[in-house]
Amino acid sequence: MINVAIDGPSGAGKSSISREAAKRLGYIYVDTGAMYRAAALFVMQHRIDPNDAEKVGSILPMLDIELRYEDGEQKVYLCGENVSRVIRTREVTRCAPIVSAIPKVRQCLSDMQQEMAQNNNIIMDGRDIGTVVLPHADVKIFLTASAEVRAQRRYKEMLEKGMEANYEDVLADIKERDYYDEHKPISPLRPARDSILIDTSEIDYEHSVQLVVDTIQSCIR
Ligand code: C5P
Repeated sequence: MINVAIDGPSGAGKSSISREAAKRLGYIYVDTGAMYRAAALFVMQHRIDPNDAEKVGSILPMLDIELRYEDGEQKVYLCGENVSRVIRTREVTRCAPIVSAIPKVRQCLSDMQQEMAQNNNIIMDGRDIGTVVLPHADVKIFLTASAEVRAQRRYKEMLEKGMEANYEDVLADIKERDYYDEHKPISPLRPARDSILIDTSEIDYEHSVQLVVDTIQSCIR
């Protein structure tokens, strides 16, 4: 099985680029951020303080996350319910990094991710895929862009979706999430030593996808 790990900060275009690259290569795309978002929503639904690691740990045995592929799209199901849209709200986005810093949550989701990688050719994107989840991945890519470029892209995307948005708020959220992700005591965001760095600040989406596909193909040849 070919395993490709793509890590990087939020808003670097990881998900859309990974999804398209997987489609072109005929691999399965696994969005681990969506799994952490679903775990955060689960904690919110149980009205538990996301900072209370013990309480969060106590409900984990009931956590049931499933990634289903419908019409080529990844859909996220939480305890049987399609939560693909609701996990993208600002509340869930703010809660996800807090919940994802809890060791038991990471262990639980890493186990699920490793199992998916065992049986499929996959591109898995996240923060700790090349460093922790799949340390023996065939290809490791660290995909990044400056915080300002990432905020600008996210802001534009929100306006296009008809969502209310303020550039300064989006930039502040991105910087806050970067800080959390880089300073997590467990699995902090950092490039794996053997990863290939791709900075998309100056290149557009199509070029980025092609670069990722070419990188993967040249590594597995
Ligand atoms: O990638 P996305 O922004 O959807 O991820 C949501 C949150 O989940 C991130 O802010 C990050 O804190 C967390 N995450 C993580 N490890 C991963 C993927 C996401 O900690 N592998």
